[in-house]
Amino acid sequence: MKPPSFGYQLAQDLPDAFAHYAAATDDVLWLAGGHSIVPSLALRLQAPGLLIDISRLPELAGITVSDDGLRIGATTRHAELLSNPLVAEHAPMLAQAAHFVAHPAIRNHATFGGNLALADPASEFPAVVRCLGGMFDIVGPDGERTVAAEDFFLDLYTTAIEPGEILRSILIPPAPPGTLTAFDELARRHGDYAMVGAAVRLVMDDGLIGQAGLCFHSVGATPIRAENAEAALVGHPLDDATITAARDALAQDLDPADEPTMPGATRLHLAEVLLGRILSRLATPAP
Ligand SMILES: Cc1cc2nc3c(=O)[nH]c(=O)nc-3n(C[C@H](O)[C@H](O)[C@H](O)COP(=O)(O)OP(=O)(O)OC[C@H]3O[C@@H](n4cnc5c(N)ncnc54)[C@H](O)[C@@H]3O)c2cc1C
Repeated sequence: MKPPSFGYQLAQDLPDAFAHYAAATDDVLWLAGGHSIVPSLALRLQAPGLLIDISRLPELAGITVSDDGLRIGATTRHAELLSNPLVAEHAPMLAQAAHFVAHPAIRNHATFGGNLALADPASEFPAVVRCLGGMFDIVGPDGERTVAAEDFFLDLYTTAIEPGEILRSILIPPAPPGTLTAFDELARRHGDYAMVGAAVRLVMDDGLIGQAGLCFHSVGATPIRAENAEAALVGHPLDDATITAARDALAQDLDPADEPTMPGATRLHLAEVLLGRILSRLATPAP
C-alpha cells in the first residue's frame, strides 16, 4: 500500500520545529528515525498532514555525563547505545538491551527518543529506562518539564508527552556502589519482538540485596514493575532460596492477558523462568 499524501518540513533547531508546528493547518507528527511512522503511513494506520523532521535538531543530539547522571539525546540511534563508551560505563543495561532490538539496519536509523515516545508495550528500552529510574526531559513552545519514568508510560502507545511537545533527552541517574544490572528476553527468533523481557537492577549491601528494581515488558500495556518480587529480594542474600521466592511472588505482580498467540498463564510462566535465569546469572557472574 502507498501512504496518503503528506507535507514534510526539515526543522533546523527547536524554535524552528515549534514554528513549523504553530504554522501547521493539518495534523502534525514529529519524524525522528521514521522506522515506526513510515510503516504505519504505508499501512494507512496514520494520516498526518505534515511530518516535521526533528532528526537533525542539535538540541536532541549527544550523550554526556555529569553529576546528575548519563544524559542521552533523543535522536541517539539505537546502534550508538551499543558502541558508546559512556553508555557502557554508566548504563550497560541499555547496551545489553539494544542487542535485542530489531536488526542492525533498523538500529542504525531508529532513535532512542522515538522508541520511548512510541511506547510500544513490547519494546525493550521503556522497561530498561523505568528499571533504572530514568527522567524524561520534555520541551514545548512554552517551556520544559521533567517527568519520572513511572509517570511517563501511561497506557498502550501513550506517554506523558503532550501534543506539540518534544522529548529532548533522557537522564539515567548515577548507579550507587554495589549495583548489578542485567537484561534478557525470550523471543521466538533473535530480533523479533519478545514474548517477555525483563530488566533487573540490584544494589548489593554487605552481601545482602539492599535495593531491587524489576521491570518487565510484553506483559501488559506499559512496562510493569514487579513490586512483590522486588520485596521478596530485599534484605536477603542472592541465593537459590531468594530467587525461588522472587519467582513465586511474580504471579502477584503480572497478569498477562490471554491472547490468540499465547495464553496469559504461559506468558507468566515465561516471565518466571526468565527472572530465575537473570537472577541466577547475577548470583554467579562469569569468571
Ligand atoms: C522491522 C522492525 C523491527 C523492529 N523491532 C523492534 C524491537 O525488537 N524492539 C523495539 O523496541 N523496537 C523495534 N522496532 C521499532 C524501532 O526500534 C523504533 O523504536 C521505532 O522505529 C521508533 O523510533 P524512530 O526513531 O524510528 O521513531 P519514528 O518512527 O520517527 O517516531 C515514532 C513516534 O514517536 C514520535 N516521536 C519520535 N521522536 C520523538 C521525540 N523526540 N519527541 C516526541 N515524539 C517523538 C513520532 O511522532 C511518532 O509518533 C522495530 C522497527 C522495525 C521497522
